[in-house]
Amino acid sequence: MTTAPETLADAPVFESVEPATGKVVATFPKQTEDDVRAAVARARAAATWWRDLGWEGRRVRLDRWKGLLARRTPELAALVHRENGKPLADAQLEITLAVDHIAWSAKNAPKTLGPRKVPSGLMMANQEAWLEYQPLGVVGVIGPWNYPVFTPMGSIAYALAAGNAVVFKPSEHTPAIGKWLVDAFAEVVPEQPVMQLLTGLGDTGAALCRAGVDKIAFTGSAPTGRKVMAACAETLTPVLMELGGKDAMIVDEDADVEAAATGALWGGMSNAGQTCIGIERVYVHEKVYDSFVQKLTEKARKVTAGESYGPITMPGQVDVIRRHIADALSKGGRALTGGTIEGNVVQPTVLVDVPEDSLAVREETFGPTLTVTRVRDADEAVRLSNDTTYGLAGAVFSKDHGMDIAKRLDSGMTSINQVIAFAGIPSLPFGGKGDSGFGRIHGEDGLKEFTRAKSITRQKYALPVPLLSFDRSKRVDALLGRTVRFLHGRS
Ligand code: NDP
Repeated sequence: MTTAPETLADAPVFESVEPATGKVVATFPKQTEDDVRAAVARARAAATWWRDLGWEGRRVRLDRWKGLLARRTPELAALVHRENGKPLADAQLEITLAVDHIAWSAKNAPKTLGPRKVPSGLMMANQEAWLEYQPLGVVGVIGPWNYPVFTPMGSIAYALAAGNAVVFKPSEHTPAIGKWLVDAFAEVVPEQPVMQLLTGLGDTGAALCRAGVDKIAFTGSAPTGRKVMAACAETLTPVLMELGGKDAMIVDEDADVEAAATGALWGGMSNAGQTCIGIERVYVHEKVYDSFVQKLTEKARKVTAGESYGPITMPGQVDVIRRHIADALSKGGRALTGGTIEGNVVQPTVLVDVPEDSLAVREETFGPTLTVTRVRDADEAVRLSNDTTYGLAGAVFSKDHGMDIAKRLDSGMTSINQVIAFAGIPSLPFGGKGDSGFGRIHGEDGLKEFTRAKSITRQKYALPVPLLSFDRSKRVDALLGRTVRFLHGRS
């Protein structure tokens, strides 16, 4: 006879709930360290089978998966709406972008990673030089809840296309969505468990870090990212870190202010602000500040919390948002709209006059809030934007100076005269620096992230003067000296 667990924390299962209603979506096992190790062992065999399918075999199957997701988007979107809380239309947009990434990674993997001949140079002219990027084996993906399809897919699709098996641990807030994705993959790849699901809380993710996978791709907060790295250090497991951000938008004096206000609103409030690449701070040139603030405020008043975007997905996050707003107001800031929270629904909040040392400017809020700050010029805007421990993304609105400002922003991604555009362009790498993490998903870099470079040489003919041999004569050494001076010593 088994004894009932005394608290929910001791229970062998957990529930995922609808943020909008509190209703249970489904119950999942908290998988143990043994379960995790067994899954990774199964993945090892599957990885060999998947690798040996070759580019074409994998591309055909990934295309089938993509097709299935595209056809069943309404079903998946309904589940994302329920379990994550975002509006159906936003769920559909998220899935559409994810499907595009599967298509791009499957199509571009062979030419990005496949074997190619590279120049062997004068000194090694008798050698052929080959480079290829081989799969790592088994990749562990630890995903977040805010974009439960799009964000993990940035690792999953690229890791699979590169020839790896994947063991996926979705957030405890969105396990049903993770299961849906894994089940859909198993429908098109029934032969082997190339993509597996692990469910559980943080402990299950931690066990995956110690299970001997060949890489962990982690998306989440910087504090948890540090724990993941520490756990991975024990086994020298490499890590990819996609962490949070405190992204800034710059509105220069020559900006289209109307477009900038529209962009700031979407960048800051969509998905209830729970977007790692969401805009949290806006620095506006003094010449257009008043008009920008007026337009932004008018637009924000038309946004309906709970309809235009959903409730806050993770219960604990509401307290963080409340704390950031209260801190801003207590330090002299003003809320021109919003500032109020009912249950887990946060009104769109535009904050002005917020000091740079307040929480709403320094820490990731992950809520539908924007701080708007007046600056003298673009230089001040760049300096303040870069004054953060994060460095994920951002935006700039300017007719003539966009490219110049974008290059000076100390972050991984910047969009000019639009927000977040880079995330929907599969050929562009996605990732940050500092507390925003390191490594890249998406694009060629995203494919290479899940591979190791393999260099191969093949001798075409033996040199009359042997270089790599104990038989090398003094005459050859002298010739070598003259050659290096000729080739490189004249500059
Ligand atoms: P966490 O960083 O705590 O969790 C992210 C993922 O890591 C989840 O799947 C989580 O599982 C898992 N996890 C938790 N603890 C461990 C561990 N010790 N070892 C391995 N995996 C672990 O983020 P939260 O979901 O709690 O969100 C907190 C904050 O993180 C947010 O407020 C936001 O600021 C930031 N965040 C940023 C994201 C981004 O896109 N950059 C995405 C999500 C959050 P489980 O959910 O089961 O605990």
